[in-house]
Amino acid sequence: MEAIIEIGYLLATLSFILGLKFMSSPKNAKTGNLIAAIGMVMAVVLTFVAGYTETVPYTNLIIMLAAIAIGTIVGKRLSDKVEMTGMPQLVSLFNATGGGCAMLLGLVEANPMHLQETELTSQILLIAGLITGAIAFTGSIIAERKLAGKVKDYRTMGVVFSARILLLLMILLPVIYFFGLLPIGFAPFVFALAGLAMIYGVLFVLPIGGADMPVVISLLNSITGIATAFTGLVYGNKVMIAGGIFVGAAGIFLTLLMCTAMNRSLMKVLAGKFKKSTGAVSEEDQEIKEISVSETALALSFAQKVAVIPGYGLAVAQAQHTCAQMQQLLEKRDCTVDYIIHPVAGRMPGHMNVLLAEANVDYSRLKEMDEGNEVMSQYDVVLVIGANDVVNPAAENNPDSPVYGMPIIRSHEAKQVIVMKRGMSKGYAGVVNDLFEMDNCSLLFGDAKISLQEIINQLKLI
Ligand code: NAP
Repeated sequence: MEAIIEIGYLLATLSFILGLKFMSSPKNAKTGNLIAAIGMVMAVVLTFVAGYTETVPYTNLIIMLAAIAIGTIVGKRLSDKVEMTGMPQLVSLFNATGGGCAMLLGLVEANPMHLQETELTSQILLIAGLITGAIAFTGSIIAERKLAGKVKDYRTMGVVFSARILLLLMILLPVIYFFGLLPIGFAPFVFALAGLAMIYGVLFVLPIGGADMPVVISLLNSITGIATAFTGLVYGNKVMIAGGIFVGAAGIFLTLLMCTAMNRSLMKVLAGKFKKSTGAVSEEDQEIKEISVSETALALSFAQKVAVIPGYGLAVAQAQHTCAQMQQLLEKRDCTVDYIIHPVAGRMPGHMNVLLAEANVDYSRLKEMDEGNEVMSQYDVVLVIGANDVVNPAAENNPDSPVYGMPIIRSHEAKQVIVMKRGMSKGYAGVVNDLFEMDNCSLLFGDAKISLQEIINQLKLI
């Protein structure tokens, strides 16, 4: 039986690796998700079987099975119900449950009934898993609440200072305890640490800007992975260790990739800092050209090559299906339509890919930023739909701009650029967009979905 379980664990681990590999391309991401999910089911079943002995009371089995059933039903319902724009919140909520599990396992294992078997190494690992799990648990809940707009940024010296003191305590207290200088038992000590770590999770996330939450969620995801790996080490469970390491590594890589694509250091994101704009014009002072729906439709009807650059506004307007309809209509008129995707367009990694996949846009039509930039001058019309920061030429031309250094899609190099947005609001980085004043750029004001529908209506008449 032991050999079957070991082979099963190996297969589950392989499925995680294969799943991650597949998830690196939007085309195979669904398959990757399915493979990894099968591996996870296998890991859960095998762990259940491995831990079963005749001495396990039936009531325990019933409680565990009931917990799995409730978790599955609630998870499925939440996933079915969630809007695409609410995805980062859901990821954060699921992440909180992962962190919470790691914390609870630590608390259960600190129970005096288990203590006589617990060696020093296990105690250290248990504390590491418990602290990281507790931070991920409360941190993820606050991140979810902030994304939902229910909790505001709270950046005061008091919060930042208290968070630093707590962090120091969480590092120092275990050292003092293991040197025998704290006269309390292991269980109460572990419970106290869990309390401190939960408060730290709250104070750690509270000061960070609401719009930076996707980066923080990715970081918290990584912390949950690390907590799982520590807990796996306590139990000697190989698949838990491997799964935790994969999540931890993938989370930290994603965090760093997002920071690179935004040209901001992780420290600045965590401190909630944006470089201040110096002497820039305000959006009201910008000299812009407006374009009407019929003029846009006319420009598109004459174009042979069109590029769509989607951004956060496409998600807000839920305009992906209407956009795909416009694409089909243009293609019927022998026009080539490409989508150029910036790695941090929207508010979560792969946001635009997910939206376009939902609208059944063929993957072959999607170009990555560099690929699109190479052929930008060939496009007759570029439609920027609800994107702002990711097309701001100030990132390349203005060293004083807060977005300077961020890689952008060079839509301004196309023959004509039409930016679809509702008003003159700034994007996430809060800076004025130099693109709007360029000679080849015009702005089509209105909700993206409504404007696209009107363009379709006009195109049908031309
Ligand atoms: P953006 O810079 O935030 O701009 C979004 C634009 O959409 C705004 O100009 C807004 O203008 C417009 N808009 C909003 N609702 C609209 C609607 N219903 N119809 C039409 N337009 C609408 O978006 P982005 O260019 O996609 O850039 C993403 C930003 O988020 C980057 O700065 C990136 O660093 C940051 N970020 C991304 C991630 C990620 O993982 N993707 C994570 C964290 C941060 P109006 O209000 O005037 O309409």
